[in-house]
Amino acid sequence: MRLRFSLAFAVLLLAGCPFGEDEGGLPRLGLMDGGGRLDRDRDDRTAPRDDDLDPTLPPPITPPRDGDAGPDDELVPPEYVDGGAPGADAGDDELVPPDFADGGAPAADAGPGSPPATRCYEEPVFPSADVSDLVSAYGGSDWKDDLISIVARRWPGGERLLEEQRDDSYFDRFSDSSSWSGMMEELATLVHEETHLFNAYHAQREGRSHSLYVRGDLIVYPPAMEGFARSEIHSMVTVRPSSYASLYLTGEQGRRGFVALLDEASCYINEMAALAVLGDQYRGSGFSSRDGSVAFLYYIELYLRRAREAHPEFWEMARADETIREHLLTQWLRVHFFLPHSDRFSSLGIYDGDFRDAMHEPENVAELEMFLGVRLGDSPCVL
Ligand SMILES: [Zn+2]
Repeated sequence: MRLRFSLAFAVLLLAGCPFGEDEGGLPRLGLMDGGGRLDRDRDDRTAPRDDDLDPTLPPPITPPRDGDAGPDDELVPPEYVDGGAPGADAGDDELVPPDFADGGAPAADAGPGSPPATRCYEEPVFPSADVSDLVSAYGGSDWKDDLISIVARRWPGGERLLEEQRDDSYFDRFSDSSSWSGMMEELATLVHEETHLFNAYHAQREGRSHSLYVRGDLIVYPPAMEGFARSEIHSMVTVRPSSYASLYLTGEQGRRGFVALLDEASCYINEMAALAVLGDQYRGSGFSSRDGSVAFLYYIELYLRRAREAHPEFWEMARADETIREHLLTQWLRVHFFLPHSDRFSSLGIYDGDFRDAMHEPENVAELEMFLGVRLGDSPCVL
């Protein structure tokens, strides 16, 4: 699911368009799985709704390509700038906790295990890599190869996602093979929705309850820990406009639980990452590339608060799960790793500043810190 705004659509709403009401957020709904994105200049795009995606079906995709050993052979913890070597022998059902550079003392209220003290997140990105040769060639019969090659040059972590999903029946639907500029208009949607589909199909193939694509070498398998309906945090949201909340925290979407929240976050974070390193190729006047990633980190903070206050047994259970804690920490740091790249392009955010402010509110950061047992800041490093 993606949510997007359109300024043109906003004008219609302000003029009394009967499409619905919002506090100025002006959602452009009716898109992918119930949502889409916020566009500054387009109101005519449509994408499949969530209903159109049926991740319960067997994946309509081909086997791994080019000798790929398959998805079960890799589960490598993220790289850490100064975190030492990650464990090399992680089983496919566990995440190896990071090593820590300076062995600083964990927070006093640290959770189970030995929480990280100092570490930073990074993954390979090459935002200045020349892609002009592939861009000029784009649009031929091998447009998928060109597209994946372009993404791989700038963001290797996204290559496996697109490569494994390239024969998915939705891939073409989320793409524009006619022109590179058109493709760039679709890339966020493609990455977002194919992350949803990868997560669903990969878990099915692996016999897991869930999977979350972070990078090609980091697929996380969260436990079946549904928690409570995310609609319980709807009234806690203070960010206006609240279009994301209206879409994701009410109705059928609102009945979804904790892992679904992590799944949605993973999709928004991945789409933000893709555009962060390819923003120079985007020619549009602006859309909400950053908004969803920070909105969902904020929602995760609120969800953890609600869990602690109203569902303490779930909170304790989730907090005791190393995979959950490791994943949440990785995603927080990862968003802060990509944001500076994305921030080079003012066109890649609409209301992201509001969500970032909320995400960084001391009481909200403290909620995540309490859960993780680390101190966090506006950076890709644990403080
Ligand atoms: Zn989504």
